Amino acid sequence: MLPELPDIKEIRADFPILSREVYNTPLVYLDNAATTQKPRVVLDAITQAYTTSNANVHRGLHRLSQESTEMLEASRQTVKRFLNASSSSEIIFTKGTTESINLLATSFGERFMHEGDEVIVSEMEHHSNIVPWQLLSERRGIVLRVIPITDDGRLDLDAYKTLFNEKTRIVSVTHVSNVLGTVNPIDEIIRIAHQHEVPVAVDGAQSAPHQFVDVQAMDCDFFAFSAHKVYGPTGVGVLYGKERWLEQMPPYQGGGEMIGRVRFSGTTFNELPYKFEAGTPNYIGNIAAAKALDYVQNLGLDNIRTYEESLVKYAVEGLQEIPDIKIYGQPSSLVSFNLGKIHHSDVGVLLDRLGVAVRTGHHCAEPLMDRLGITGTVRASFSFYNTKHEVDVLLSALRKVISMF
Ligand code: PLP
Repeated sequence: MLPELPDIKEIRADFPILSREVYNTPLVYLDNAATTQKPRVVLDAITQAYTTSNANVHRGLHRLSQESTEMLEASRQTVKRFLNASSSSEIIFTKGTTESINLLATSFGERFMHEGDEVIVSEMEHHSNIVPWQLLSERRGIVLRVIPITDDGRLDLDAYKTLFNEKTRIVSVTHVSNVLGTVNPIDEIIRIAHQHEVPVAVDGAQSAPHQFVDVQAMDCDFFAFSAHKVYGPTGVGVLYGKERWLEQMPPYQGGGEMIGRVRFSGTTFNELPYKFEAGTPNYIGNIAAAKALDYVQNLGLDNIRTYEESLVKYAVEGLQEIPDIKIYGQPSSLVSFNLGKIHHSDVGVLLDRLGVAVRTGHHCAEPLMDRLGITGTVRASFSFYNTKHEVDVLLSALRKVISMF
């Protein structure tokens, strides 16, 4: 028996897209790590904001602009509560995790990193937590040090401890691997870095949707996530940063809203968090994202976690019975696998025809693929709106795929 959330049927009814069919078959959406579907409250918030109060924020004295600004700032408060940040000035709105990490690498790098300085990342990072540091490396000659993974898909913490030296300036690691499902021991990772007085940035793209994140308890220095993976709209993300770091970091982009006073003789910058938010923000997206965060908080992130973990356990037990299957890492909210010698893309295409949406390929983690000696995996990733029945559909579809080869 799976623990039940309030009522799975009611929950599913909140997500209009879940009732659609593909190829005359009910859709089984198991690509939630790539993006989640949106509940009606989020869709309605977008329509409502455009229909009743759309006006650019912060710059207008008129009524609509004030309403829009108030809603945007209320959304920031919602994110602050969601992450348990100590102040809303630590919440920077971005386009997504990718932009959050680019902002961090650029701005932190500019202020704190010089030629020969080192950043520690890991072998299981998404490209968005590798390439921004490589770009910085090209600009400033910094060096990437890489935490290896063990054969069972965990970070090798003993090796991690050996990577620190007097040149280490920051650790930037993922909380949960988008390929392996491994939930990294983030508290331990942060504790070790702080012993060396090195700050830690956490890529929370795959953790924020599935577990309660308390940035103060975690004591991370930065935390990035994308709203679209937490049931919100695309084009919205967050970079949380401790005020004492953000205060010292230079702006990422220049333009409206991030300034104090502009003269040709010199420009001063706005206070936090606006210093990092140049130009018109995606305020409608931010407002809708806050509705999504409220939605998951109403369900309860602990309930979500318990439910999803048992759903994935059920899936993994079923998958393990499939001959020749190879499961990678430590499945949590997602499970990655390959079926013998059948190419992952072939599995994906055939599953699609059977109504099951999964992701296949390298999952934007090519260095990890190299480490595993493969070109890709099939990844089924779950949400609280998925059901045991859908897992059964996946399992029987996989058996059909095998029978076709
Ligand atoms: N980091 C991880 C672990 C991810 O899984 C993803 C997306 O899949 C990202 C970063 C990038 O997120 P986005 O494309 O929303 O910026």
